[in-house]
Amino acid sequence: MSDAPLRPVPQPGILDIAPYLPGKSGAPGSNSIKLSANESPLGASPKAMEAFRAASEHLDIYPEGSSRVLRTALGEVHGLDPALIVCGNGSDDLLHLLAQCYLGEGDEAVMNRYGFSVYPIITKAAGAAIVMVDEDDYTADVDALLAAVTPRTKIIWLANPNNPTGTYLPDAEVRRLHAGLRPDIMLVIDNAYAEYVTAEDFTVGADLVREASNVVMVRTFSKMGLAAARIGWMFGPDHVIDAINRIRGPFNVNLPAQLAGAAAARDSEFNDKLKAHNAQWRDWITAELDESNHFRVIPSQANFVMVLFPDAEHAALAFETLRERGLIVREIGASYGIHDALRISIGSEQAMRGVAGILKALVKVA
Ligand SMILES: *Cc1c(COP(=O)(O)O)cnc(C)c1O
Repeated sequence: MSDAPLRPVPQPGILDIAPYLPGKSGAPGSNSIKLSANESPLGASPKAMEAFRAASEHLDIYPEGSSRVLRTALGEVHGLDPALIVCGNGSDDLLHLLAQCYLGEGDEAVMNRYGFSVYPIITKAAGAAIVMVDEDDYTADVDALLAAVTPRTKIIWLANPNNPTGTYLPDAEVRRLHAGLRPDIMLVIDNAYAEYVTAEDFTVGADLVREASNVVMVRTFSKMGLAAARIGWMFGPDHVIDAINRIRGPFNVNLPAQLAGAAAARDSEFNDKLKAHNAQWRDWITAELDESNHFRVIPSQANFVMVLFPDAEHAALAFETLRERGLIVREIGASYGIHDALRISIGSEQAMRGVAGILKALVKVA
């Protein structure tokens, strides 16, 4: 008999999980600029803030459980049937629910090696195995993803555009991926950065959701100015929506979040401004750093860029130098295994000029 103390034991898989590493913040009270979590550099929609404040009058009452006001707004803005939308406490909430609903022991979920680091966590938490597929130069490789499918495969996790690489699959490639899957495999299209995409051959997952019965589209307000409010949503076929609604928390989106989200969805003026700012400074920093042969900026469709350095030491030196100057970017060695790169969120003009200036000065010294 083992002499290990008798105590509660987590389900298989849980203790194999490496905890999620969030982007770093500056020391409390410091005026560092955080470029490590893909947050909005223009704050939140003023209309969303007003709605959030108004909700403070009603904190004593349970929120309407299905997030109806938010689903209605999303349906209007995106041209979707609100009955096929479920909202969540951030899109992480919905990703967890999808894993819990559709994965179990013996199942496999397929993802890109440099895909979003939450996918392995939720897959293992559901007792399933994660199958990592190599990208082609940091971009998802549809043939390789399809080749990784086995009889045990239940879910494909695809962030489009992807975090932390910023790369995307055009509509035709997403369709080719879907067309190669058995109908009992769910394709989860995580469009967390869709609002920032400017490429003309990109489409959100919604059309494919309507045409198929094994595709869901997951979205978030976090990258559009409401990260603290924790609002995500998904659009899927009725049978998936029904299953998720059975297991989600009955009040999983709080009232201030529902109202702020509805206002933010309709605030196209703010959303357009954020998108334009992002596109301008994403292009600018990409060109600025690419000019030097020292860096390689992976072309991004998101609100960050991944910058490759000659090696891990150069990346670490750049991270430290930026941090000393009050600019906190994201190291992606530990969470993603990309040791020679940093992920830099698109911030204010001042922050972008700061980052570019410091990195270029570093090359001259090196
Ligand atoms: C940020 C992010 C999310 C999660 O966002 P929430 O804040 O939980 O809504 C989901 N997927 C990807 C790819 C992300 O980068």
